Amino acid sequence: MSSAIPLNVGIARSADSAGAGKRVLLAEPRGYCAGVDRAVETVERTLEKHGAPIYVRKEIVHNRHVVETLRDRGVVFVDETDEVPEGAVLVFSAHGVSPAVHEAAAARSLHTIDATCPLVTKVHQEAKRFARDDFDILLIGHEGHEEVEGTSGEAPEHVQLVDGPAAVDDVHVRDENKVIWLSQTTLSVDETMETVQRLRERFPKLQDPPSDDICYATQNRQVAVKAMAPECDLVIVVGSRNSSNSVRLVEVALNAGARAAHLVDYAREVDPDWLSGVTTVGITSGASVPEILVRGVLDLLAEHGYGEVQPVTTANETLVFALPRELRTASARR
Ligand code: SF4
Repeated sequence: MSSAIPLNVGIARSADSAGAGKRVLLAEPRGYCAGVDRAVETVERTLEKHGAPIYVRKEIVHNRHVVETLRDRGVVFVDETDEVPEGAVLVFSAHGVSPAVHEAAAARSLHTIDATCPLVTKVHQEAKRFARDDFDILLIGHEGHEEVEGTSGEAPEHVQLVDGPAAVDDVHVRDENKVIWLSQTTLSVDETMETVQRLRERFPKLQDPPSDDICYATQNRQVAVKAMAPECDLVIVVGSRNSSNSVRLVEVALNAGARAAHLVDYAREVDPDWLSGVTTVGITSGASVPEILVRGVLDLLAEHGYGEVQPVTTANETLVFALPRELRTASARR
């Protein structure tokens, strides 16, 4: 696993904030990653091009605000392709889908646009490649998560899900010389390494993925939280409960020394009791969270006397993904 190089983790106190002074540490990077940015823009451009209603299978990204905003603009979110009228426009979410879902959509003559993050697609390609070479693929991830369902569906005969270190004892492989682990893109780096270590104790010839499956955005947000958490009496993570990378940020904050950590979708969910006796509040947000929601939490904290905001920067992100091909021309005309 690679980790970001700390850029600005010297967390100084200004003279008038020493002692009882309240302050906010603001993690950087936080919020939208390149894959989420692309997925949300894909839906917006599809709406412009085809007009409402358009359909999206599952939540385009795991964020309540994003989903509710798009729903208000005419996007219909469905669980499965059979809920979509024949011939309609259907967008696949950032989390990816299995080949069976592509086939089901084709059978209904749906016009599909794929907003799968390219970094999820990369893991799909790895699964296909190692299945072709007849490996047992141990996919570390959370049972029931859409991304895991999509990746497993690429090679169901070869993929076994390993849902954390405690699940390692239940793994059975055909040939201990042909075993590889892959992972969901949004896991805790530390917990994944613990799972891998336990797997390797059982299968010493376990192969590593060709490159990190836990994506750059997940890793960078965890590194930033780790840098600020030891200074924090409280960490507030802005994100939704079904957002894997957001939930992991709460865990990472607590493991790194934050005295308390909570996940909120909106500023109104911040319980004033959490602030009792708190001097330093850390703020971050998951990879599917628009910055406006973080601003809301900052405004609320300022009302409670936490007006001083210090960034804690551990990486600069510049990655941008191109839109799906069928939308590029429409985008270029804007
Ligand atoms: S969190 Fe990572 S894998 Fe998921 S959409 Fe963002 S960049 Fe892609």
